[in-house]
Amino acid sequence: MAQSERAPGPVQASYDAVVVGGGFAGLFALHRLRGLGFSVRLYEAGDGIGGTWFWNRYPGARVDIQSLEYSYQFDESLQQEWSWSERYAPQSELLDYANHVADRFNLRTDIQLNTRVKSARFDDGADVWIVETDKGEVVRASFVVMATGCLSSTNTPKFEGLESFKGRTFHTGRWPREDVDFTGRRVGVIGTGSSAIQSIPLIAAEAKHLTVFQRTANYSVPAHNGPIPEDIVRDVKSRYAQYRADNYNTALGADWGYRTDTAMEHTPEERDAEYESRWQRGGLSFYGSYADILSDPAANETAAEFIRGKIRQIVKDPAIAEKLCPTTAVGCKRMCVDTGYYDTYNRPNVSLVDLRETPIVAITPTGVRTSAGEHELDDIVFATGFDAMTGPLTRLDIRGVGGVSLKDAWEEGPKNYLGVSVAGFPNFFIIAGPGSPSVLSNMLPSIEQNVNWIAEAMAYLRQKGFTRMEAEVPAQEAWVTHVNETAAPTILMTCNSWYLGANIPGKPRVFMPYLGVAPYIAKCTEVVANGYEGFALA
Ligand code: NAP
Repeated sequence: MAQSERAPGPVQASYDAVVVGGGFAGLFALHRLRGLGFSVRLYEAGDGIGGTWFWNRYPGARVDIQSLEYSYQFDESLQQEWSWSERYAPQSELLDYANHVADRFNLRTDIQLNTRVKSARFDDGADVWIVETDKGEVVRASFVVMATGCLSSTNTPKFEGLESFKGRTFHTGRWPREDVDFTGRRVGVIGTGSSAIQSIPLIAAEAKHLTVFQRTANYSVPAHNGPIPEDIVRDVKSRYAQYRADNYNTALGADWGYRTDTAMEHTPEERDAEYESRWQRGGLSFYGSYADILSDPAANETAAEFIRGKIRQIVKDPAIAEKLCPTTAVGCKRMCVDTGYYDTYNRPNVSLVDLRETPIVAITPTGVRTSAGEHELDDIVFATGFDAMTGPLTRLDIRGVGGVSLKDAWEEGPKNYLGVSVAGFPNFFIIAGPGSPSVLSNMLPSIEQNVNWIAEAMAYLRQKGFTRMEAEVPAQEAWVTHVNETAAPTILMTCNSWYLGANIPGKPRVFMPYLGVAPYIAKCTEVVANGYEGFALA
């Protein structure tokens, strides 16, 4: 019998909710649900909590949204008392923060580490889920809450000869705990997304030689990282609740100083002055530069050309600078935030291979072979990203009503309602799922909004004596259509991004996140006000 068809063993424990994943989403879900009196078990595959910040320990890993914003707001004393050492906290500090939260709110008693949820099956007669872990445990839960993250299922492309490489290999998303020393070594980094752009300057500073294999050039803006000026910390903390509320009321949910005028109503000089001020401010505030930056290709091109100009100024070799100049629209792939990325290409020990000119043919025992020849390497770093958004969900064996698997239900793309609920999968909730703003927003506030919504829905069901809640098919279809229609007129549809699943061969090309934090929150609020409109409650 296939493993997926094997009946789980006897049930060993029962909970109101099983939460899958111990990152920021899972930790807050556990805290919030427990606070409402629900019994909860949280399973985490890793041997520590922290999710993204547990697994992504590569050199230079740090958040690309300011830490004063990329932090929890659910507890006023927590947000007042915690201090960030830098504007963009490094991975180690984010992990410390996750552990601090777990201790401060006594979460560990309900967290089980080193345990991967393998399957969850809905028992249609009893309105409960039967959840099985890789440790052979079988538990019953009225609700399953998926806090599995958007970028947690790593992607290592199936290069020919991959297994034959005799040196060390790393994936940025599964970086080892122990220090990795590149001193004196010939290192190859495959990929030029955010993870690569953060790690390349540090690897280059250590390695004997670094070869970067670039398939698509990306836009990166400087972080201008450093300690946060005291007056800024004081100001934000003096009005934290309002600051958070204001950010929820924006398109992308972060403090990026959104202008409401358009790029095209300004002269080239005015536009360049605006882009220059964003460049000097640093970080992703570039997204807020003009209202039409993601919608009007001509407006977008003005920002694109400004950044290309910066690349041409920084990189001394004009031929390398040209290879580094992206041809996609700005923001079509998520912009990157760096410290010294472009300048790294001025180092004598760094070379750039443009895979559009000379694609990778194979990995060999001693390096990477492109169509132009062999690059000998001691180490290969795969900065090749993730099977984003759906991967962490569809790789589990999740079966709803009638034994239908989520993988099959999502064969043509992730169909759900508000990103949180899937028709045919009652009492199954997703935090920051496809169909919600998630990766097109500041993740932490979006996580909190989703968790609060889900927790309140569960409390409502309990109060009304309902045992079952799921999206209705027409509401789900209308939402999926709306998610697509919102993205359709934007430049987000114009390149092969992971938002579209285009980085994974064979994955359906569907735009997954929802563009628009403020309208999303308004819709979630309206659904509740209308008695959970679009949901079947029983
Ligand atoms: P990514 O953005 O998906 O980048 C993967 C890179 O690998 C791309 O350059 C991609 O090229 C390349 N690649 C993939 N398959 C390849 C193949 N078969 N051959 C050659 N190159 C290949 O992944 P990531 O850098 O890990 O970042 C993913 C997301 O995580 C980011 O967009 C961001 O949202 C988040 N992140 C955030 C931070 C932060 O907050 N600071 C840091 C890291 C990551 P193509 O572009 O041609 O596909």
